[in-house]
This record gives sequence, C-alpha cells and structure tokens, in this order.
Amino acid sequence: MATNDTVQYRAAELQPGETKEGLLAEAADLRRQIRHHEYQYYVLDDPEVSDAEYDALTNRLRAIEALFPDDVPDDSPTRRPGGYVAPGFTQVRHKIPMLSLGNVYSAQEMRDFDKRIRASLPRDADVEYVMEPKIDGLACSLIYEKGRLVMASTRGDGQVGENVTANVRTIKSIPKRITVPDGETVPDRLDVRGEVYMSREAFLKLNEERTDAGEAEFANPRNAAAGSLRQLDPAVTARRDLSFFAYYLVGPAEPPTQAECLRTLEKYGFTTPEHWCVANNADEILKFINAHEQRRRTLAYDTDGAVAKLNAVWEQKLLGATGKDPRWAIAYKYPPEQARTKLEDIVIQVGRTGVLTPAAVLTPVKLSGSTVSRATLHNEDFIREKDIRIGDTVVINKAAEIIPEVLSVVKELRPADAVPFSMPAECPECGWPVVRKEGEAAYRCTNPHCPALGREGLIHFTSRDAMDIEGCGPSIINQLLAADLVKTPADLYSLTKEQLVKLDRMGDKSAENLLQAIAKSKEAGLDKLLFALGIRHVGAKGGRILAERFGSMDALMAAGKETLANIKDIGDVIAESIVTWFANPVNQELISRLKAAGVNMTMERHQVNENHVFFHKTMVFTGTLPTLDRATAQAMARAVGANVTGSVSKKTDYVVAGEAAGSKLDKARALGVTVLDEARFRELLGGQGGTDAPAPAGSADAGTQAAPGTPPDGGMDSLF
Ligand code: NAD
Repeated sequence: MATNDTVQYRAAELQPGETKEGLLAEAADLRRQIRHHEYQYYVLDDPEVSDAEYDALTNRLRAIEALFPDDVPDDSPTRRPGGYVAPGFTQVRHKIPMLSLGNVYSAQEMRDFDKRIRASLPRDADVEYVMEPKIDGLACSLIYEKGRLVMASTRGDGQVGENVTANVRTIKSIPKRITVPDGETVPDRLDVRGEVYMSREAFLKLNEERTDAGEAEFANPRNAAAGSLRQLDPAVTARRDLSFFAYYLVGPAEPPTQAECLRTLEKYGFTTPEHWCVANNADEILKFINAHEQRRRTLAYDTDGAVAKLNAVWEQKLLGATGKDPRWAIAYKYPPEQARTKLEDIVIQVGRTGVLTPAAVLTPVKLSGSTVSRATLHNEDFIREKDIRIGDTVVINKAAEIIPEVLSVVKELRPADAVPFSMPAECPECGWPVVRKEGEAAYRCTNPHCPALGREGLIHFTSRDAMDIEGCGPSIINQLLAADLVKTPADLYSLTKEQLVKLDRMGDKSAENLLQAIAKSKEAGLDKLLFALGIRHVGAKGGRILAERFGSMDALMAAGKETLANIKDIGDVIAESIVTWFANPVNQELISRLKAAGVNMTMERHQVNENHVFFHKTMVFTGTLPTLDRATAQAMARAVGANVTGSVSKKTDYVVAGEAAGSKLDKARALGVTVLDEARFRELLGGQGGTDAPAPAGSADAGTQAAPGTPPDGGMDSLF
C-alpha cells in the first residue's frame, strides 16, 4: 500500500514552545483558509490547491480542535460538509441529511476504525462491511415518486442543496422512470443517492473543446463533473457526457443491508459502483484497498479511494453520525501520484482554432508507470498563479491519470537565473500578433490563414474519430504541406500515387494504401464529416445528432439558426456557430469540392430497417473483439438503429463482449442481459431480425451466451 506523506499529524498534547493561544490562533487561520478553498472548490469548481494540500489543512485543524474541544465553534469546517448553494439555484432541503465521509490514509488507521466499530457494537453483533470504490465526482440525491424522477439535488452543506433536476434529467445512466419485473412494485417514494461523475475520456474531450473555444480547462474530472452538473442551462449539461453510480437508498424504502441496497438499486435500473464486495475484518478491508489500488488505473473514471461501510443498517443506525460524517463508514484515500522534476523550457503549441497553449518541457521522470517529459500548462493565468519559471523544480501529477500537469513549484530549489514566462506577442507559427479576448483565458493568433490552423485542421480531419484516414497522421500531413500538395482537406482527394511516392519513406505499397484509405474515407458518412470539418462546438456527438436530424449536408445548410437552436442538445451557441461556419464562402467552397470529389454527404437514416433485431435496442460493447475495433463495431450497431451506451444496466438489451471483458460482462450475466460474441453479433447484424435472434434481457426466454475473458473495459459514447 502506498503511503500518504502529505498529511501532517500533530502530537496529542502541547509540545514545547506551543501555547494554547498560539494554536487557537492557528486554528482560526486554518478555518479561514479552508473556507476559502471550499468556496473555490464547491462554488467555483476551480480549486487553487490540490486535494492533498486541502486535506492536510483540515487534518491539522482537526488535530488542534481535538486538543481544545471546548473552543471549537459550531460552524467549524470540521463539523459540516463543505458544500454551498451557488447563486441562481433553487435550494432544496434534504429530508435526510447528506453526509460526507471521514478519511483515513493508512492501514493502521483503517484497523483502528474497525476496532472502534467493534467496540461500539453489542458483543454478539456480526460485523460485516461492504467495500466500494470511492468515485471521484459529486454526491447527488434523486427523489422518485411512484417511480418517476421528480427532484434531483446536490449535497450542498448537507442540509440544503441545489436543485439540479433539469440537469440530471439529461444524464443517460439515470432512469427517469423506474420499472420493476412483473409482480413487484416500486415504493411510493425513493431517495437514491450516488455520485455524478465524468469519465476520463469525456473529461479529456471536454478540455480539448474548451481549449479550442478559448475557455479555461477543468483541473480534473471531478471539477468538470461539478461544473457541468451545476449549470444554469441544462442544454450545457446535456452536452457534457456525465454518468452516475448509485450507492445508497435512504428513507422508508431502505433495505436492511448495504449489500441488498446495491442489489435493489441494480434491479431498479441504476448502475452501482463496480467491484464492490463484502469484507469481514480489517484484513479483508485492506485486501480490497490494495486490489483496488491496482485496478483503479484501468478504470474509465477516477476513483480517489475505497469506502468501507458497515453492512447492517440497524448497526449503522446504532452508531449514527457526527455533524459531518457517518460513524459507520470511512474512506481510505490513496495518495496522489506525484513526481519532482526540472522544467527545462516552455514551448507554445498553436491549435486548429488558433489558440496558443503553453507546454512544459521537463527532464524525463517516471510517474504512474510511464516516463513523462511534457506537461500541460493550460494558459498564461495558470503559469502566473503558480509562479512557474523556466529552470524551476516542479511537482507534477497526472490529471485523470492521462495528461501530466504541473501542480506546484518547489520554491526553495529555484535557481537565481530562473526565467519568468510571458506569452509571446507574436504567433510562433506565422509571426502575426496574438490577442486575448476579454473574458477568455486563451491567446489566439489573429491570422486567419495561419499555417497552424490548416495543419491542425487537416490532422483533425483525418483523425480516427473523424474521417479515419489510416496512415495519414501528423508526419504525413506535414510532408504534404511542405511539398505544397495539400492546403485544405479537399486536396487530399486529388492526390496521386506519383505525388505520394516522392514523399519521405513512401514506397509504392504505402502510397497505394494511403490512396485506398483516402478513397475509403469518402464513405465515412455525414456524421463523421461534420465532426471532421472542425466547426466550433460541433464534436463527434454533435455531428451525429445533426446528421441524424437532417440526413444530408444540403438539408443542414438550408436550416436556419432557429431550427438548429431548437434541436435537443444543440442550443443557441452551437446553432450560431454552425450558421456562421456555413455562411463563410471559403467553407462553402470546401463543401462543394468535397462533394465533387465524391465524399458522401448523407446519412442513410431513412433506410434503417425498423424490424432489425438491434433497432432501438440498447447495446454495450466491452472487451477486445477478435477482428472489429470498438468504434467500428459501435458504428455498425448504430447504423442499424441501435442505441450504444457505456454502462450495463437492467435496460441494456445486448452486451457484445470480447477478450478481457470484465465487470460489464459480469454485470450483464448477473442481470441476465443477452451477451453476444463478435461472430454472433455479425450474424445478427447481417440478418433482418426475427426468429433466430436471442431475446434481449428481460424477456421470458432471454439466454446468456458466454463470451471469453476477464477485466478491464471502457466503451463510452464520445462527447458532444
Ligand atoms: P470526500 O470526497 O472526501 O468524501 C465524501 C464523498 O464521497 C461523499 O459525499 C460522496 O460524494 C463521495 N463518494 C464517492 N464514492 C462513494 C461511495 N461509494 N459511497 C459513499 N460516498 C461516496 O468528501 P467531500 O466532503 O465531498 O469532499 C471533501 C474532499 O474534497 C476533501 O477531502 C478534498 O479531497 C476535496 N476538497 C478539495 C478542495 C481543494 O481546494 N482542493 C477543497 C474542498 C474539498
């Protein structure tokens, strides 16, 4: 088990040189600092310090308060959960308070927790825990009346939260209506509690889009989830690809154990935390914590710890809660993975929308199992706030365990000649002036013909989620540009073999392959093309929505702003961006040339066979299929009208599972969802539905067809 050395503890009695007055003054100062950080974190979703630094402050405060319990004010941050209700939201009073969780950081503290529990319960009580991953999102309460979702609220200060019902309705994995098998009934009122979170993939895509739009990036998926759920405009939340894990059912409908609670939630169609299990003693608790520490890196979302909960609800009730945390549960928090290294230089990258992004060039260092030599610095404000200078020793960690970022500077190690950074006044690509618009975090190049725009636009056009032109990555694009063979994506379609073979390391065979890949991309379809064009705010999901709604490029181009703005998940900002893009004669010419080259500008939405076995069925893909990659298999399913989602629930009709399919497959089996391997999937895909198709989950004759393998998976729908 890794250790947390960021947490400071203090002795349980006054040390030489300490006075009561001095420590009380320190406590008052700590409360002020903690409140400030809580405001930044919970209201602005924009923390200034790492969680470990914040936790160190609260632990220090707790330790001082333990010395002088009579001097602890009722409103101390240690006595209530740290949330607030932000302006603009209606307040919701929770019938049953929403509590936080106490934290521990070491195996010893976990054993102490187990001892405390046993000492507080009657001698003959069975002690059993449910172990769950601690999802790094934000807590949400969902109220259902007669099976219908009527209210959703954030935790707030534990007593009063924010009404986020309209926003929560846009989250796909939250049932809007609960259904149960025949013969069973849903209780009149349910209070379901769980975590709204953002997957790592959705987080990365969102930040990419925000950079392109000149907006500040979110620091991590938790802040992105909180910022996305707590939006005054639900259309914004709808575009953000949030998900939900349910872990409590409180109030009159509460089952007698936590394990049963999770099973009931699954029966009601919720997704519950993966890999949960029962532990009977401290050793088993620690076993789960260690196993999860390994597993958490492979999950599609962030978990910052593991939670131990007493299983029996009567025991939970007996132990009760402090003002802030239940006494019957505890969170073990994993230490953040960090490393120190030297920042050798700051370089500027220009993106496809002309945004200048600074990046740190680092002395290579090992972090979370890989060597890191670059880290994002987001924008100039970020560098200023952290006072990052070239030559500094910096602490880095991995946001979403994928992109490394600079956390802080080790000021004591700053060399005398460390150089402060300032954004260049001119674009490093073309020398034109750069500007920063009011209210934007980003600087942009002012040259509409900056070579970076063309190059990055081409790289985006050919990329996997766009036109998917295999073998046409950045180095080929750079060569094509240098040889003056392409300027816009339309030029790709008139390339010849004679031109290609002149490129570096391009033989006859590679040239033929590239031409074939380019030709194949003509059939990518309208949805991919719309994404590939790089219209601001139109991502992969946006492309799909527009393609499905209009069916052809001509129909989309003819649509007015109002029509577009009225489409679910589109809204005013995107509508404006689409209309402006198509009004530009340069873009109109690009479309005509692509059309002339034979690029398919339609989506065959009308040809979907409504009798197809997958039509309007909810499908999940997991594991590695023998021949199809995940995106292709999903696209094939969508093409026949399937709704492809990322998590398995009672509502899932089919799970297509391949090699190393993990928890999703387990869950599918537990829920009796029909599982297909690739061969069967292909077979059914080719068929027109009907007699030999296995009945999907929930039907009387549903069967489970085994697919090979064990753990990890993924498979989310891509972001808007
Ligand atoms: P917490 O995140 O430490 O733990 C409690 C929360 O865990 C619950 O409210 C719930 O939302 C969540 N949770 C996730 N999985 C769960 C599961 N399986 N079962 C039950 N609950 C689960 O506590 P908190 O009060 O939400 O937040 C405090 C933490 O937030 C701090 O420890 C710190 O890490 C962070 N924080 C950071 C800053 C900062 O400036 N960086 C400021 C304030 C708070």
